[in-house]
Amino acid sequence: MKRLAVLGHPVAHSRSPAMQTAALAELGLGGEWSYEAIDVAPDGFERLVRALPGRGFVGANVTVPHKAAALAVADALTETAREIGAANTLSFEGDEIQAGNTDAGGLLATLPMSPAGGRALVLGAGGAARAVVWGLLREGAAVDVWNRTTLRSTNLCEELGGATVEEPDATVYDLIVNSTAVGLGGEDPFEELPLGPEAFVPGQVVVDMVYGREPTALLAAAEAAGATTVDGIEVLVQQGALSLQVWTGRDAPLDAMRAAARA
Ligand code: NAP
Repeated sequence: MKRLAVLGHPVAHSRSPAMQTAALAELGLGGEWSYEAIDVAPDGFERLVRALPGRGFVGANVTVPHKAAALAVADALTETAREIGAANTLSFEGDEIQAGNTDAGGLLATLPMSPAGGRALVLGAGGAARAVVWGLLREGAAVDVWNRTTLRSTNLCEELGGATVEEPDATVYDLIVNSTAVGLGGEDPFEELPLGPEAFVPGQVVVDMVYGREPTALLAAAEAAGATTVDGIEVLVQQGALSLQVWTGRDAPLDAMRAAARA
């Protein structure tokens, strides 16, 4: 059996095991491959990862709070993971640990238009925001970054590019991506983020990386205003599809993954 897992803390809420198990079954790999969730605290992360190849694992997804640690433990990094400064996909070749990042590619795959030449507002400056900013800049968008803690967005822009913004006029952007954790605990996004429901305009694309209760209040307001919306599950599906491709070399069955992730 070739084993895969998602490593996080906590991780019980993760939809990746259902989604990836459905994908493996759809590809006819259900008898040879498996995917499970492993809850590991930060102080046990490195020891666990080093033990995984010996226990039959060929790869793993990595989620909060281990994405920086995953980069540190790796012997080889993709350019994407190195530049973003975080890894969400590990592959094991013998004892060698390879680290990549499919969060940026996953986000880009969800967009109904090319971001090239457009203006994007990214909310947040954590690990998810870093991947989003990196991906959008690479595609040729002009990126503004807002974060509650301005020092973090300033540091992010110094490292990756983009411009810090403190009071954005959200109506001017072609694309708005919420990559903060706001909404995860049921918070009112319009209390915590620098925009109101009137910020959205038709023709705009609004992505909310947060998923849970659907649609989020942010996406409900964006949709009511005539914007095109992309939810966090679609981002999860697309990043998972790219990870699955890394491990199996096969194109991912997106419809089966979507159905399982949304069940
Ligand atoms: P992180 O590194 O912990 O960053 C959290 C971010 O949220 C920071 O920018 C933080 O601002 C901000 N934030 C938290 N509470 C806030 C509040 N009340 N008001 C304003 N800003 C607040 O987390 P992450 O890894 O970047 O993940 C962020 C979100 O994206 C999470 O909800 C995660 O589940 C989601 N995500 C989804 C996918 C997907 O596939 N759909 C992939 C990755 C991440 P400060 O710097 O001021 O603390």
